[in-house]
Amino acid sequence: MNVKNSPRHFHKNPETEKKIDSLLSQMTLSEKIGQMTQLGTFADQDRQMIQEGRIGSLLGVIGADHVNELQRIAVEESRLGIPLLIANDVIHGYRTIFPIPLAEACSWNLTLMEETAAIAAREASAEGINWILAPVVDIARDPRWGRIAEGAGEDTCLGSEIASARVKGIQRNDWDDRPHMMACPKHFAGYGLAEAGRDYNTVDVSETRLREVYFPPFQAALEAGAGTIMAAFNELNGIPCSGSRWLLTDVLQQEWGFEGCTLSDWESIDELVQHGNAESREAAARLAVEAGMHMDMQALIYQEHLAELIRRGIVSEAAIDDAVRRMRVKFQLGLFEQPYTDNRLASSIILHSDHVRTAREIARQSIVLLKNEDDVLPLQETVHKLAVIGPLADNHEALLGCWSGQGRNEEVVSIIQGIRSLAGRHTKIMHAKGCGVIEGSDEEIAEAVQITLQCEAAVVVLGETANMSGENNSRASVDLPASQLDLLKAVYETGVPVVLVLVNGRPLSVQWAEDHVPAILETWQLGIQAGTAIADILFGRYNPSGKLAVTFPRNTGQIPIYYNAKKTGRPQMKRYADSEHTPLYPFGYGLSYTCFEYNDLRLSSSVIGMTETLTVSVNVRNSGQRDGEEIVQLYLCDEAASITRPVKELKGFQKILLQAGESRNVSFELSAKQLGFINGNNEFVVEPGMFTVWVGPHSAEGLKDKFEVKG
Ligand code: BGC
Repeated sequence: MNVKNSPRHFHKNPETEKKIDSLLSQMTLSEKIGQMTQLGTFADQDRQMIQEGRIGSLLGVIGADHVNELQRIAVEESRLGIPLLIANDVIHGYRTIFPIPLAEACSWNLTLMEETAAIAAREASAEGINWILAPVVDIARDPRWGRIAEGAGEDTCLGSEIASARVKGIQRNDWDDRPHMMACPKHFAGYGLAEAGRDYNTVDVSETRLREVYFPPFQAALEAGAGTIMAAFNELNGIPCSGSRWLLTDVLQQEWGFEGCTLSDWESIDELVQHGNAESREAAARLAVEAGMHMDMQALIYQEHLAELIRRGIVSEAAIDDAVRRMRVKFQLGLFEQPYTDNRLASSIILHSDHVRTAREIARQSIVLLKNEDDVLPLQETVHKLAVIGPLADNHEALLGCWSGQGRNEEVVSIIQGIRSLAGRHTKIMHAKGCGVIEGSDEEIAEAVQITLQCEAAVVVLGETANMSGENNSRASVDLPASQLDLLKAVYETGVPVVLVLVNGRPLSVQWAEDHVPAILETWQLGIQAGTAIADILFGRYNPSGKLAVTFPRNTGQIPIYYNAKKTGRPQMKRYADSEHTPLYPFGYGLSYTCFEYNDLRLSSSVIGMTETLTVSVNVRNSGQRDGEEIVQLYLCDEAASITRPVKELKGFQKILLQAGESRNVSFELSAKQLGFINGNNEFVVEPGMFTVWVGPHSAEGLKDKFEVKG
């Protein structure tokens, strides 16, 4: 890969390089180091630092007037007038909050994910933000890890497509000729592999696996044009990422040709000391700058030590100049010509009705129907009294999820609000909380049972609050909290049909529910339109189409469990004595209110050459009574190779709309690139031999055939 071929915006060009040369020649060492410094806890007394050119970027400053005022100090009161990069963690919306990224990933709708990223960027830009610290492109296979909520799930192929779509959305230039926003894919690299799912924990992984599973979404993000990248907190095979020359220089810059700016994570350069990789802050500063870390987030460690390290000849000024040159992004963003944002923009852009409409659409598409026995859903018109039970039924905050930006509780449609507004005049809604999210009492449960007994169906809303996932919110168990399970059991015991609506930031092991409750809807944390989108599905106004971007385990002990595991020599013996080894719900799984049939799998040839393309087609029929969308998935397995291969790997997908009774021929082109892998020398190769291909509705089901690749 060479990111020099990536689209637009953040590349060197002779004109900007000239401007940078001229700027550099005027800069003092202190001003240079200033450009390498980002402050995340800006307070009024820090204004002087901006005046003195000792700050290059601010993080988390909110409000157009405030941002403009700080830009004004930088541009008008500092000696060289260099504008600031204004960074913000816009993870799934700025003020119009969309579903958490893991939920959006379950839509498999790249166009819509690009759109939500673009909307978020546009709203943030209206408030003067020009640097979004997203997307999170960490592949994650451990649902104990709270940050699984922020990424696109467990799969490299899907994750890479989504990484690319999100970067394009963030950096979309849709109202004049310059980019207004820069993306920062994070966290480079391997962060999702934190041992035992404990945030910030050790990561030890082979280079082959790193290159095959964890790097590609970063490569996709850079190929899509991302101008910056953030290093991860964790150590990787013994070297903390923030001080890893191999990662930040050898791989990123030399191998991939990255010309943009690397950013540390929050104080992560300073943490080289806690990692036990640097003996002092000074040593940490040296390690990081020599590794190729261009900007220090929040540690003020470059400020404190770089000048002295240079004076003593320990660090070369050339390394500093190289880092400062990365600030070419400020030219590319047009900040020198237009550092300010129009403070009248925000009120007409933020929460625009089109944004809210998109929030509802992506929320509906993110929902995954996990079970629907006896067609309990959609709720029938014969339901005149509906019980809405559970600690999250009337909750707004949980639906915003982690990193909820500028989202406000009062702008969220709660689940009970959504249900009430769509239920129609003939359905009476009765509500009881039943328990708290963590604790409950017999009295609360008794009240919920009492209410359920008066109704013809019960929607039970259970799961996690916003702060049970996200950063530093890992869980040792992915079960429903005990009080909530007790409530579910009690409501189920009434004999009234139950629909379980899950609100959560990670896969939960809901084995008891799967064994008993007739209908289960995975709704994640869907943002401001959550209640409306969920009601759309409960009442059949929208036919569910989401499919899981991550495997659901039966119990915590099965973790890590993911669909594309390696083969073993004894597949028939891969068992636990006390649990099944299969997942509760496999990757790619999700039901609809209609049925899809797969027939007639065809390959364009049974043998192809190394550089040829294979066409794989299948007939998909909507054999049910309703129009619906299906996500058709293609998986592949290289039967024998010089390095063992996974049992299957996703290589393509298409989301198609089929009317009731309609059939469609869906075809995929498979190129040599999709057949290859990283071999034992860490080189990408395609090896001749037999391959199996499946096309089907999810990773555990599909029509299959074989073909041969000839050398
Ligand atoms: C997180 C980053 C985030 C940064 C700034 C860190 O704790 O790991 O993802 O961008 O804080 O808020």
